[in-house]
Amino acid sequence: MKLVRYGNPGQEKPGLIDTAGQLRDLSGLIGDIGPDQLGDAALEALRQQDTGRLPAVEGSPRLGSPLTGIRKFIAIGLNFADHAAESGLPIPAEPIVFMKATSCIQGPDDAVMLPRDSVKTDWEVELGVVIGTRARYVTEDEALGHVAGYCTINDVSEREFQIERGGTWDKGKGCDTFGPIGPWLVTRDEVADPQNLGMWLDVNGRRMQTGSTRTMIFSVAEIVSYVSRFMTLEPGDVITTGTPPGVGMGMKPPVYLKAGDKIALGIDGLGEQRQVVVAYQR
Ligand code: ZN
Repeated sequence: MKLVRYGNPGQEKPGLIDTAGQLRDLSGLIGDIGPDQLGDAALEALRQQDTGRLPAVEGSPRLGSPLTGIRKFIAIGLNFADHAAESGLPIPAEPIVFMKATSCIQGPDDAVMLPRDSVKTDWEVELGVVIGTRARYVTEDEALGHVAGYCTINDVSEREFQIERGGTWDKGKGCDTFGPIGPWLVTRDEVADPQNLGMWLDVNGRRMQTGSTRTMIFSVAEIVSYVSRFMTLEPGDVITTGTPPGVGMGMKPPVYLKAGDKIALGIDGLGEQRQVVVAYQR
């Protein structure tokens, strides 16, 4: 299933995209899409519905993050060898784990706002992993069974805040609007191999990132298992799993986002995002 949440910010309703591409309303069946709807039994109950009988939603409403109630937004750094190289950093021996503030989460096509005084705001197309059932000290073999599904994420990053201001990366990763998620939460039964998904990102129509989850250093199963040794993963937690090469920081000279820029990105089978970059406003 391709699950979505549609409507104005804070008022989204649950929906799904049927096999013909039609948006249908799920609000007669479930209150929202969040931790309580992500377990195997809850997803199976939805899957058994005759989608043709669900109300069709006319037009193209705004989409929000395809799930709400995200309590942890975890990120993996430098998970592609060629991205580590362009960043001038060594290939990590173990996954680099950092947190994105959940207040940065927004819909896939909402505007990205430059933070106040930002000069190095950058882009990162990434595979997002949504946890469906509690995972604590899970093995790699067990790990994917705890995943509800997958989504496209732009891990927007302010490099000066991230790297040049001391302390951890978190300062440059959780600014407002830095976490576009969606358009869809694609349930794991529809993703045959999370390690074989093409990914791309354009800025102003120019291809910047081309990659595949095939070249991740640490696979999704390794990441879920690894993180579950340091914190309990709960339903609705999201892990964004690292970006392939082609970020602005890696260009010679570096290229960063400015107001008016247009970002487009996507992952095979998981849908596309389109964001306009806007200047800081209070
Ligand atoms: Zn990232």
